[in-house]
This record gives sequence, structure tokens and C-alpha cells, in this order.
Amino acid sequence: MIELPEEQIEERFNVGAGQGVTIEILGEVTQGMDGVAIVYTNRRSLSLCIGANLADLAKHKVRPYEMMEAFKNHPMVAPLIQGGKPREYMAHWLAEGGYDAIPRLCGDGFLIVGDSGMIFNALHREGSNLAMASGRLAAQAMLKALETGDLTRRGLSGYIMSLQDSYVFQDLRKYRRFGPFLRRHHEIFTTLPRVVGHAAREMLTVDGIPKRKKQKAIWSEIRKQFSLLRLVRLLWDGWRGVR
Ligand SMILES: Cc1cc2nc3c(=O)[nH]c(=O)nc-3n(C[C@H](O)[C@H](O)[C@H](O)COP(=O)(O)OP(=O)(O)OC[C@H]3O[C@@H](n4cnc5c(N)ncnc54)[C@H](O)[C@@H]3O)c2cc1C
Repeated sequence: MIELPEEQIEERFNVGAGQGVTIEILGEVTQGMDGVAIVYTNRRSLSLCIGANLADLAKHKVRPYEMMEAFKNHPMVAPLIQGGKPREYMAHWLAEGGYDAIPRLCGDGFLIVGDSGMIFNALHREGSNLAMASGRLAAQAMLKALETGDLTRRGLSGYIMSLQDSYVFQDLRKYRRFGPFLRRHHEIFTTLPRVVGHAAREMLTVDGIPKRKKQKAIWSEIRKQFSLLRLVRLLWDGWRGVR
């Protein structure tokens, strides 16, 4: 978290008072690992975050602070934070296991809510709302159990039923294939951003080359990077991950 005067944030991000910006970056910044980098504006500070997969970090022997330093020095990021004072540094585990990794949420005398219960929507980066919603449902189940004096797993199981009926589990079930999709298709963090960048550069550069010719060049670059089978697999798995 980097402290900057409010007026400087408004000027650099071209926003009015009380408004903010989120920038999400996919690609080289995570050095081929599963994850994204983010710049958030706060009122008097900027939050710079990098999300990465722990197993990937261990495998690539990359230290998180090295990634953060490289991110801060990136030519797109450096001017945004210039002159700012670093105020906080933290690491936080994100509960991205998905629906199939949810542990037993209810037992004799206990209920689990929020991140501890893997109640987290990785695609939409929703965790706070799901923690609050599951907390509310847990409290309601607890009140009922207290009324009947049954605090066993059976007495508290209304929590699981209300979770099943709520948007919390409906959303987590909907995206249960999304995590495995990301893990199976590492190219989302490597080749794909490169290909998309190349395509955007081709199409947006005004250089007298007809667009159809550019389209062909883009397609041939895509085919160089992906076999047709891999491409179909990517699209199919992607669609199944979010449908
Ligand atoms: C960088 C980042 C960006 C995020 N962005 C978003 C976003 O945009 N939208 C969104 O919805 N979610 C976002 N999340 C996720 C969200 O922050 C979490 O899903 C949410 O905070 C989970 O709430 P929780 O109450 O389950 O757990 P937490 O908020 O982690 O609360 C657990 C608390 O328990 C305390 N604690 C732990 N152990 C003990 C102990 N032994 N004794 C006493 N206290 C203890 C901790 O200190 C902590 O205060 C983001 C997370 C990160 C890291």
C-alpha cells in the first residue's frame, strides 16, 4: 500500500473526487504463473497486489517480493506510484479451491463460514460478500439450534441447507470447473496474453496494411502458438468453466 496525496491520485488516474480506478493486469507480470496483478486506488493510497499460485511460486522458485518489485518498476506502473510512500505490506491466502474443495462446514458444536470454508468465487473475486452471507446464514442456523437446544451436527445442519438454497452455493456450484480450467490451461497466463497483445497491436497500428491482411497475420500467429485441438480444448473448457 503506497501513500499518495488525494489530488495526485485524482490527477494520475484522471478521476474526480470520491471516484476510483481498478487496473487488472494479466501476462508477463506473473512470470508465467497462474495469477493477476492489480492496482487499486484508495482515497489517499494505492494498493498494488499480485495474486499467484503458491505451488507455482514454489516450483518457479520466485519470491513474492521480487515479483512486487518488478511490478513496481514496470514502465506502466512506475509513474503511477512515483513519489509515493510505502505504508503497508501484507500477504494473504486466497481460498480459491472452489466448490469441490469445500470442507465439512458443520459439525457437533461448530460451523465454518467465509474463507476458512473455501467459500470464495475465484472468477468474480468475491469473498467478502460470501463471507458475510455465509456468516448470516450460520447465525440464523445457530439461533434455531439454540431454540431447540440441539447444537449437534444434526441440529446445526439447517446451515448447510440454507447455503444450498442461497446464491452462495449456487454460484460456487456454477463455477466449480473454473479452477481446474485455469490449472489445466496455463497458456491463459503465458501465450494467450501475448497473442492478444499481438492482435491488438496489429489491429490498432495505422500503417497502411489492409485489415484483412492483418487478420490473416493474427490467425497465423494464433496457429503458430496453438494447435487446432488445443484451441478447441481451451474454448470448450473455458465455456464449461463459466456456463
Ligand atoms: C488482495 C485481495 C483482494 C481481494 N479483493 C476482494 C474483492 O474485491 N471483493 C471481495 O469480495 N473479496 C475480495 N477478497 C477476498 C476477501 O478479502 C475474503 O474473501 C474475505 O475477507 C473473507 O472473510 P473472512 O471473514 O472469511 O476471513 P478474513 O477476512 O480473513 O477474517 C479472518 C479474521 O480472523 C482473524 N484470525 C485468524 N486466526 C485467528 C485466531 N487464531 N484468533 C483470532 N483471530 C484470528 C484474522 O486476523 C482475520 O481478521 C480479496 C482478498 C485479497 C487478499
